[in-house]
Formats: sequence, structure tokens, C-alpha cells
Amino acid sequence: MTVRAILDAKGREVMTIRPDDRLAEATRILASHRIGALVVTLGDNRIAGILSERDIVRAIGEEGAEALDFPVSSVMTSNVKVCHEENTANDLMEIMTRGRFRHMPVEKDGHLDGIISIGDVVKLRIEEVVREAEEMKSYIATA
Ligand code: AMP
Repeated sequence: MTVRAILDAKGREVMTIRPDDRLAEATRILASHRIGALVVTLGDNRIAGILSERDIVRAIGEEGAEALDFPVSSVMTSNVKVCHEENTANDLMEIMTRGRFRHMPVEKDGHLDGIISIGDVVKLRIEEVVREAEEMKSYIATA
């Protein structure tokens, strides 16, 4: 299964934020959409970083509640690992497990074009395993 197929099924909408927005705004967006990360973008939808709930928790843990007034750029991860439509779900599982993160923005022609979370990949893998088990059961029943 490819990233393209996952995006065709789940859509390409991504919640984003700007580098100079405040962490308080990021927290409001994460909470209202019940998501765990925002892609930080520049004006033309180019990826500048990623901001996860973990980054915000770390900033508040280290600096206190005033961290909510910090700009997103001060705590985001700038060295973002992105994926492309041709990548497979297995590629992503390996990269996310090795890098210990749960989100990968999809980039196309240098621009943000979707996001895949570890939850999307695990859901897909479970569906595949269930389907394979059903196929094996019906094969055995008819053999
Ligand atoms: P997460 O597990 O996605 O909530 O993120 C854990 C940490 O990894 C946070 O510091 C994120 O900023 C960072 N992170 C999340 N996704 C990526 C990514 N695709 N590339 C690089 N760092 C990431």
C-alpha cells in the first residue's frame, strides 16, 4: 500500500501553523481538531517544520506557562523527515519507528500535500492482516 492510496482514502487536508504564531494558538488548534501535530508552513505551503504536542509539553515543562507565548519557530523541529506518494506504508513504519516520531508530512514538488500518522499506518496494517486471515479461512474451508 502506498502513501498515494492512503491519501486517496483519507484526504489531503493538513492543519498548519505559521512559524511566528504563538504556542497558545497551536494548542487551541491541536485541541479543537483532536490531533497531535501541526505542520509549520511558509506562505507558499512550503514546509518549515513540524510542531508536536510533545514539543509544547516539553516547552511548558521547562519554561512554565509563559512558554505559551513563545513563537512556534522556537520549539518546532526544523529538520523534518517527509515522505512522498510513492513511499509504502512499510517504509513509513520503519522510518517513524527508527526516528521515534508519529507523523510524516507528504511533500510533492516541494510543497505540503498531506500527512500520514502512525495511526493511519497501523489501521491499514490491521485491515490487511484481518483480510489475509479471512482469505486463508475461506481457502481452508473450500480446500
Ligand atoms: P510525535 O511523535 O510525532 O508527536 O513527535 C515527537 C518529536 O518528533 C517532536 O519533537 C516532533 O517535533 C518530532 N517530529 C515529529 N514528526 C517528525 C518528522 N516527520 N520529522 C522530524 N521530526 C518529527
